[in-house]
Amino acid sequence: MVLFEGHQKLVEIKKYISQYPELFYQPIPQNWKENRDITDKQLEKILESKLISIKDFENENIFVLGEYLHYLNPSLAIKMGVDIVLFGGALNFLGNSEHKKVLQELVDGKIKGCFSMTEIGHGSNLKHLMTKAKKVGDKLIIDSQGPEGVKCWIGGSTIADYTTVFCHLYDEKDVHQGLHAVLVPLKDYVVNSNSDKNTLYPGISIQDMGPKLGLNGIDNGYIKFNKVEVPVGNLLNRYGGFNEKGDYISNIKNKDVRFGLMLSALSMGRISIAMGSYSIAYKAFIIALKYNLQRRQFLFKNTKDEKRIIEYYSQLQKFAIIYSSLYYIRLGILDLVELYKKEGFSKKVHAISSLLKVYSSWMAVKITGWCREMCGGHGYLWDNQIGLLMNDVNIYQTFEGDNSVLIQQGTKWLLDEFSKNKFVGIMRYLKSYTLLGNKIEKIENRFNMELGELAFRLSGKNKEQLWLNNLNSIIRIGLDYTKLHLIYLTNDNKLIMNIYCSYVYNNEVPNELMNLILKQKLLENVIDKWDKTMIEVTEYIPITKYPQYYSKL
Ligand SMILES: Cc1cc2nc3c(=O)[nH]c(=O)nc-3n(C[C@H](O)[C@H](O)[C@H](O)COP(=O)(O)OP(=O)(O)OC[C@H]3O[C@@H](n4cnc5c(N)ncnc54)[C@H](O)[C@@H]3O)c2cc1C
Repeated sequence: MVLFEGHQKLVEIKKYISQYPELFYQPIPQNWKENRDITDKQLEKILESKLISIKDFENENIFVLGEYLHYLNPSLAIKMGVDIVLFGGALNFLGNSEHKKVLQELVDGKIKGCFSMTEIGHGSNLKHLMTKAKKVGDKLIIDSQGPEGVKCWIGGSTIADYTTVFCHLYDEKDVHQGLHAVLVPLKDYVVNSNSDKNTLYPGISIQDMGPKLGLNGIDNGYIKFNKVEVPVGNLLNRYGGFNEKGDYISNIKNKDVRFGLMLSALSMGRISIAMGSYSIAYKAFIIALKYNLQRRQFLFKNTKDEKRIIEYYSQLQKFAIIYSSLYYIRLGILDLVELYKKEGFSKKVHAISSLLKVYSSWMAVKITGWCREMCGGHGYLWDNQIGLLMNDVNIYQTFEGDNSVLIQQGTKWLLDEFSKNKFVGIMRYLKSYTLLGNKIEKIENRFNMELGELAFRLSGKNKEQLWLNNLNSIIRIGLDYTKLHLIYLTNDNKLIMNIYCSYVYNNEVPNELMNLILKQKLLENVIDKWDKTMIEVTEYIPITKYPQYYSKL
């Protein structure tokens, strides 16, 4: 099921996009330069549509659009993501009404933006970023301070007009006020009407990083800031800024807490990556499933036709795991979006969005790999897109917070909740299902025991060393909790629940469940039902029309 199936916005988006089938439905070129050109044109067309507005930062519409763009071209979705969700999100959530004027130009498609956090020297450890913003009079001077401070991997930077740069802020007395974001022009014309559109703003240098393993429809670049001057008003000052006297003021006294709040305000990005991972995995699943339902290999005794490859239990088990995992990940994301709409950027939203981003991207990498293998040689053909999806989704494990780093924040939250006794006697409303027996209870008991043990092991004196010694358990427990969290979400489909719990419990799906899948034609029904919404997206992929497509010669 697509994440937002039936959503009014999705209907609107699909109607708009279906007017340009040549732009959106054609196979994505393998050549990275062509790929970028097409993706740029696609994004321009999307922004022309006025399908999104500033108020959509408060609801799910940007997610609905992001999901659908992922089915068409993941590079397009990520391009929209850095432009609107990250750059626009920083202006919306960290800026003031003046910054919102730039945001308006962005959603109107008049300017393009990018989001500059990572540096050559540091990606995960943001506290050690080198870029500095120093207040001098009514200006901020932004400087990379050496090669390690050059911003790196910045998506969309070679074409962007502005960026939001994350840097250490120093006031006039050279007092460090912690990490902040500053709006910086990259092109001169946005402040100087005499400049042409390609001239860079003084002090800015940008270099394209070239082709990548995947996501080649979007450019990534280095940005160096050499004493770049911007007005003090360009500081995104929601959590701290300068008063009229030029003194730094903030309601949040602790610098780290302040920066933590700024990062939480960017949870939308993590939710988008969780959704993108789901969408990419789902598309690969549909492509592989369509093929597996048609392709036949080996004749069995007393049968007329060769066996459909889906009926081999080695294939079927993987499809069952993929289907049930995606089913639950979808529930988890929709639940998270509702939580986000209700609580905004709460600690829980930060933790659950981190955990779901990690789980769904790790699953998507596993799922796309399985789908490629389950289609044999045809899965390897560029036009069949599974290879493209595999490569594109690989980086979802790393950007928006490296998975192994992000999951630690989720487990940290879990341990804090545990210390408040919130997870003792965890709810048990999903008890007895015929095939499952007491599996949920077993999963839950195993989890509670391991979490308790971990909390005990971490309770000694040298906290940093203890954390390091237990890192693998910390990561595993974060993942186990995510699976449990998903299992607890309301789901009336007992067969799927049984499959998923069996998988979570011991990485297997029992034969009796697989027999039921075949008997109930569960996977055929998936295609019948999903095709209505996905027909445009998968129709032009050769493998989905097997064997008709290949017998054309
Ligand atoms: C295609 C692409 C697009 C990107 N777009 C942008 C963008 O638009 N804007 C932007 O600011 N950035 C962007 N990035 C950068 C991205 O966010 C970083 O690459 C990411 O945060 C990881 O940082 P790093 O590369 O420095 O990896 P590192 O932090 O050096 O990690 C390397 C390895 O060390 C491990 N590791 C590091 N610290 C720990 C720890 N504490 N515990 C356990 N393991 C650890 C990691 O798990 C990883 O396996 C992009 C990156 C790519 C590849």
